[in-house]
Amino acid sequence: MFKAVLIDKDDAGYRARLTELADDALPEGNVSVRVAWSTLNYKDGLAITGKMPVVRKFPMVPGIDLAGTVEASSHPEVRVGDAVVLNGWGVGETHWGGLAQRARLDGDWLVPLPAAFSARQAMAIGTAGYTAMLCVLALERHGVTPDQGEVLVTGAAGGVGSVAVALLARLGYTVVASTGRPEEAGYLKTLGAAEIIERDTLSAPGKPLGKERWAGAVDTVGSHTLANVCAGMRYRGTVAACGLAQGMDFPATVAPFILRGVTLAGVDSVMAPRDLRLQAWQRLARDLDVALLDAITSEIGLSETIDTAPRLLAGQVRGRVVVDVNR
Ligand code: NAP
Repeated sequence: MFKAVLIDKDDAGYRARLTELADDALPEGNVSVRVAWSTLNYKDGLAITGKMPVVRKFPMVPGIDLAGTVEASSHPEVRVGDAVVLNGWGVGETHWGGLAQRARLDGDWLVPLPAAFSARQAMAIGTAGYTAMLCVLALERHGVTPDQGEVLVTGAAGGVGSVAVALLARLGYTVVASTGRPEEAGYLKTLGAAEIIERDTLSAPGKPLGKERWAGAVDTVGSHTLANVCAGMRYRGTVAACGLAQGMDFPATVAPFILRGVTLAGVDSVMAPRDLRLQAWQRLARDLDVALLDAITSEIGLSETIDTAPRLLAGQVRGRVVVDVNR
């Protein structure tokens, strides 16, 4: 038996609960993992609350991330005792996920736990931090360098945003952090932000083109915010777009793209190919200050995930949340 969060949807409605499950209830897979740590991402909040249709099979164990130790494997490259990390691949959406003490998975989805991190730290990074690194890699791929000027991070006090601020500052960029929580200015400066701006300056409908300010941007928010970020890009700047915390819509014009040669680089972590994942984790090991990571991380037990999910969606959780699945 093992403990897990389980989501049901039936005539009684949509609900998440903490429960105990039999090992033989685990789904098909060629690797079994004893989970040590998981985490709560925005998508897990959506899954647990049912606010968006993230879960596509019921009953479902949520949790798009996990870190743990391999207990059994028939995969040729995964051995019993390996310390592994999993991010995405539809886990927690269509295949039982990490908010549980055990998981059974496809070994192709696993990456080795980087030596630089403990399992807890890997989950403090989680999909949010790994996506922040995918955004940084996208900016680099499109030639954004620190000498070109300021880079903007929206939703800066959230999980993706906090890690993006820390990474970009460490790499020498001048980071401007947009937040709806001015009380987190001190926190964002500790992560390396040079300036804090109010979320409201970006979130209302704006003009097709504004003052050229940003050489690069990481947007976790979407909607009007992303449209205004695009409108404020410098000539040939790049926006890495990964999120929808304000909304899924994109009420923009083509003006920034056809008049300023702006690049909108889409970032997806879920189905990202294995070599890109390995590169992102290698770069996290090199470029993320582990002391800062610890400073942005709070910890909850498995039983607290259901109550924490709505607070996360309401933007009330700062930085990253790790989940100790054994308490
Ligand atoms: P999070 O920790 O909840 O952070 C989201 C942040 O967005 C909040 O902390 C808040 O930051 C800001 N925000 C919340 N509601 C807002 C609103 N109505 N208008 C403007 N800003 C708002 O979530 P996360 O885990 O970092 O994820 C951030 C986003 O990235 C989510 O949309 C998530 O789905 C997406 N994501 C995508 C991928 C991918 O593969 N593409 C991977 C991971 C995450 P402030 O308080 O600082 O304003």
